[in-house]
Formats: sequence, C-alpha cells, structure tokens
Amino acid sequence: MDNDILSFSSLDKTTDPKGVVTSTHIPEDQLAEIVSLRPTNFNDYVGQQDVVDTLKIAIQAAKIRNEPLDHILLHGPPGLGKTTVSHIIANEMGKELTITSGPTLEKGGDLVGILTHLGEGDILFIDEIHRIPKVVEEFLYPAMEDFAVDFVFDKGIHARSHRYRLKQFVLVGATTRVGLLSAPLRDRFGIFRTLDFYSVKDLVVIIKRSALLLHTPISDRGAVELARRSRGTPRVANRILKRVRDYSQVKSNGEVTQSTVRAALCLEGIDTLGLTSLDRNYLKTIIDFYKGGPVGIEAIAATLQEETDTLVDVVEPFLLKIGLVLRTSSGRKASEKAYHHLKIIVKDPDKQNSDGQKY
Ligand code: ADP
Repeated sequence: MDNDILSFSSLDKTTDPKGVVTSTHIPEDQLAEIVSLRPTNFNDYVGQQDVVDTLKIAIQAAKIRNEPLDHILLHGPPGLGKTTVSHIIANEMGKELTITSGPTLEKGGDLVGILTHLGEGDILFIDEIHRIPKVVEEFLYPAMEDFAVDFVFDKGIHARSHRYRLKQFVLVGATTRVGLLSAPLRDRFGIFRTLDFYSVKDLVVIIKRSALLLHTPISDRGAVELARRSRGTPRVANRILKRVRDYSQVKSNGEVTQSTVRAALCLEGIDTLGLTSLDRNYLKTIIDFYKGGPVGIEAIAATLQEETDTLVDVVEPFLLKIGLVLRTSSGRKASEKAYHHLKIIVKDPDKQNSDGQKY
C-alpha cells in the first residue's frame, strides 16, 4: 500500500469544549481568549451583509431539505472573518467543525485522515486553500464531488484502486488569493463570496462588543479612534484594543478614551490611518528607491527583505483599498495621497524621493 496514504495525519490537533479541532497547537488560555471574542452566531457577526444573507438562505434551505450545505469558498485578506464564518455555519447547522490549512496538508494521507473522520454534514474548514499541494488537491476532487476517496494499492500492472465512501461533509475553503486556485478546484464550490474591509461604523460595533467581553470601559470617541486605526480589519481592531486596554490600565484610570488610544498606538508605531512601520516602509521603498514607481513587487520585497506573499496578502490590500498605492500593468506606484500622508514633498518629478524630508 502507498506509504503516503498510510501515514495519516500527524497534525497536532487541539479540541476545545465546542468540538473545534485545529491542526496547529494553540495554548489553552490563548484559545479561550480567541473563542471568547469570536462571534458564534450571525447576530454577533457585524457587517458583510450580503455574505451573511447568502449564507443564511443557504443554511435555511439546507435545513428545510435536510441536506448538507454546498461547499463554500471565502475570499478576502486575513483577519476579515473567514474562519469566524465557518464557526458560525457549524453552530447554525449543529455540526462539528474541523479546522486545518493548505500548507499543513503535505501528503494525500494527511487530508484522507481528516476526511475519513468527518461525520454527516460536518464542516471542514481549510484555510489558505490556495497553498494546498497538487497531490493533496487531487484527493479533494472526488471527495468534494462524490464524497469518496480513491486509494491505489501497489504499482504498475499490479495497481488496484479502491473507493472509500465518505460522509457528506461541507468544505469551507478560505483564500487570500483566489487567482492562485486551480479552475477545477474553484468550480467545485457551490457558493463563492468575497469579504471586504469593514467600515469604521461596523468596526466601532465590533470594538464595543469586544470591550464589553474584556470588561474594559471604552468611550464613544475612543472606539471611533480605534476603529479608524484598525485597517478595516476586525482582527487588528481586537489586537490593538488589547494593547490600548493595557496602556489605559497602567497609565490612566482604565477607561479606553481617544487620548489613551492615541498615546498607546503612538507607542505601537500605528499612525492615524492605522498604518504600521511595515506599511510605511513599503511606501517609502517605492518612493525612495524607485522614484515613486512603477516597480515590481519582487523588487520591493527584495529591498525590504520581506516575503513577497506577506506584502501581497497583508500589506497591499489595505493600501490599495485606501488609495495609497496603485497597481498598474508595469508595477506598483505610490499615489499622491501616499506622499501627502508621509509628508514627503515631490521636489523634482524626475527624482522623487524623501531625502532630507522629515517624516
Ligand atoms: P480570517 O479567518 O479571515 O483571517 P477570523 O475569522 O479569524 O479572520 O477573524 C479574526 C477575528 O476578528 C475573530 O477572532 C473575531 O473575533 C473577529 N471578527 C472577524 N469578523 C468579525 C465580524 N464580522 N464581527 C465581529 N468580529 C469579527
């Protein structure tokens, strides 16, 4: 028998009280914190109204027909709530949720091991599904379409194939780069939705809910200031809320206010638009090294000594969204707004750089 298939998942699985299985080890205290801020039903899931509406209808219809849901593909930058959606779906359907990610599924056996343990209607969430190796992806096709996996025994003329039936599970795939998904995989998802960055108004609601759960008093202006600096991303909002909570408890009376937000985030290097030092260095690289662009992403990554994937998945989507960077056919360009935000004056259009300019 193929050794790859025999060596079933060696993933380090953690099971929380709600039956959530994750493929990476998360310490108990951290897991409790993550789960406590993560909404478990659609009422607490703020924003993304069209995604929520689509899913609510699909869930209701599946319940009426007493059938599992169609497979779902969620696209969008990190931290916008893709994993959270899979938790909510499992909760609403009353099924178990298994969480894994593309890069951890190294061999066909890793995936088969997980698939054969899924119950009827259970949800399998695969994060970064675009990074799933080709050999593993081949097992996904029959699993998604026919709820079966094919084992091949022996090799050459002795090769025999055996089909193993799976329970009808629901695959929820999440990706930051839908363009990297192969067409056959993309086509096997019945529902495809893109999550967008959150408005300040939605982030204020998320921040106030999280502050309540963390027993942290927060003023309205404090919540708005935090929301403005959260890069349109709930995960960032929750993370910086915790930093400001620390600051407010140590340096003030514990209440998160506009002034404690400003002071705490200044220490964190987060500016008025929510940009981090990596965001600013990215922009400065384009302006200083490449005269404002256009420049290819590989060149920016090499100058910054950063992973291209990090820049494309984490840094660029928000900078594009707020118009600080432009993507042209010949590469990335810093916009006028970027010069303005970094307080860089364009002295000579042929030699745009920030030499001698104070940021
Ligand atoms: P992704 O899977 O897209 O990287 P997550 O689902 O892990 O993002 O979301 C990160 C955190 O942000 C969650 O733990 C949750 O607390 C919060 N969050 C995300 N989306 C929402 C939302 N719509 N409403 C409230 N909180 C949210």
